[in-house]
Amino acid sequence: MTMGAFRLERPRSVADAVSILAAHGPDAMVVAGGTDVVPNLQMKLFAPRVLVDIKSLAKVSQLAAMEWSPENGLRIGALATLTTICESPLIQEKFPVLARAVATIAGPLQRNMGTIGGNLCLETRCHWYNQSGFWRKSLGGCLKLKVPDAFAGKDGPICHVAPGGKFCWAAWSGDAAPALLTLDAELEIAGPAGARHIPLAQFYKNDGMDRIALGRDELLTAVRVPARMAGRRGNYHKLRVRNSIDYPLAGVAVSMDVDSRGVCRDARLALTAVNPAPLLVKEAGESLIGQAASPELIDRVAQQAIRTAKPLTTSGSTPVYRRDMVRVFTRRALEEAWRGGS
Ligand code: SF4
Repeated sequence: MTMGAFRLERPRSVADAVSILAAHGPDAMVVAGGTDVVPNLQMKLFAPRVLVDIKSLAKVSQLAAMEWSPENGLRIGALATLTTICESPLIQEKFPVLARAVATIAGPLQRNMGTIGGNLCLETRCHWYNQSGFWRKSLGGCLKLKVPDAFAGKDGPICHVAPGGKFCWAAWSGDAAPALLTLDAELEIAGPAGARHIPLAQFYKNDGMDRIALGRDELLTAVRVPARMAGRRGNYHKLRVRNSIDYPLAGVAVSMDVDSRGVCRDARLALTAVNPAPLLVKEAGESLIGQAASPELIDRVAQQAIRTAKPLTTSGSTPVYRRDMVRVFTRRALEEAWRGGS
């Protein structure tokens, strides 16, 4: 579980970081909090020649800043720590679904180090992949393994989850993304040609191997939430083996705008850990808008959520149980949103 050799680069600006990434292409990898990247390097899932440590950019740029205004909405720099976000009174009051989702990420130590940018760019996870090199070598690797000649063994020709297919079903296992999807967030990305913006929903490719729309020469710099999403009711529910630290095995985020008569004006519902991407349940909004709470409606939306969820085999749970928990969490989150509490 030792890391391979690499050169460490500490850029002095965002432009400097982008030019280092552009110069080294697939040989470079970005690290910030290191809570996901470092264990993956120790397991030799990657072997970058250059590690670009961007943590120091928090001191020289707006990369760790959090700004809010009624005109421009919320902007969170990619290096803002998860603790800063979930303990922020502003986030708790105006964007409760985000505060609650981020508060469930790993444990306090990881939240102190981990960043929102890192959580939005997590690697996908799979029981047959997130293992030591020794463990993976006994299986002969799999399609996702990107280190052909490392200790881990050679690229495997098959997927152990769905043998016979050429698709990687490794699960998206972040908690912040589903919450931000329900808030219609967008991302700011810096690259050689300048900055670009992309809706969060288009950032995830739903492919376990090629998970996000981020070039090798690009850097995620911030996430933005529109002002119109402030003040919505919202909640997040998460299934995990150890409630104090683990990645999700299934997660449901809901944000809802409810009028004084209890009629839903707008709602968004998103899932995590049950597909290779965090996904909005598209029909849920259409079903909920203009409706008051009823057991039949909540059951219908729970069914829509289950149809979106495609969990495959992993350790700690079964696909059947995870899908069932998506139903339970969807019901629970909707009932709470209508009641106006958590
Ligand atoms: Fe490998 Fe298949 Fe797991 Fe992807 S889903 S990491 S290809 S075993």
